[in-house]
Amino acid sequence: MRRKLPLTLEEIATGVEKQIKIRRLASCGECEGSGAKGGPSQLNTCITCNGSGEERRVRQTALGQFVSVSECSRCDGEGQTIEDKCPECRGQGRKEAQSTIKINVPAGVEDGMTINLRGQGHAGIRGGRAGDLRIEVREKAHDYFIRRGSDLIYNLEISFSDAALGADIEVPTLTGRASVTIDPGTQSGKVLRMRGKGLGQLQSSRIGDQLIRVHVWTPQNLSDSDKDLLEKLRESSASNTPKQGKGKSFFSKVKDAFV
Ligand SMILES: [Zn+2]
Ligand SMILES: [Zn+2]
Repeated sequence: MRRKLPLTLEEIATGVEKQIKIRRLASCGECEGSGAKGGPSQLNTCITCNGSGEERRVRQTALGQFVSVSECSRCDGEGQTIEDKCPECRGQGRKEAQSTIKINVPAGVEDGMTINLRGQGHAGIRGGRAGDLRIEVREKAHDYFIRRGSDLIYNLEISFSDAALGADIEVPTLTGRASVTIDPGTQSGKVLRMRGKGLGQLQSSRIGDQLIRVHVWTPQNLSDSDKDLLEKLRESSASNTPKQGKGKSFFSKVKDAFV
């Protein structure tokens, strides 16, 4: 039996206990799963196989004695037969019922992973082994974050002035808002790391980081006074870009950092 389990990044970060309601075949309470009217005491030992569930046939041949063993045809290998079937489950020993299942989701699970709950699927026929319930993890898309393993990536747009002069800027994290410091002279493409603000990991106590990718927003729709200010800045040597072609550019270094 399979079920999908949608999880948020917040739930995946720390692990979570979830409850789901499912309809499954559960052991019949009326006959205690035996399928016999009146319960297990009403089961009869099979007269063909004496309760072993097997039929043995012995054959004599010129080469010696051959014994073949097969499932008993009278009791279908169960070793017991039912005189009167339980009316509640029509002799199946199980019937459909709604159940609430608790699932302990560990931190760091990934989309498509399966959590196997042994014996939590359909009950077996007349007390047979119960099946497993397989829970498939579905990671919900997040409004702000892109997941990379146990790290989170957040794209932050800052103004041209904040990039040049530096600023403290509020950003979302999985546990609330936090402040990051933009150093004066920060370039577009710079990556800031907030340690321990990412996701927990499977079978590890390490917690991932939140990476903040800075994008500098170029101003548009300038007023005349804005244009005057920027014209003055253009004349100042401070706004010149460095000479091209000397060593690795800032952007190729950023790219290397992500490989
Ligand atoms: Zn029953
Ligand atoms: Zn039998």
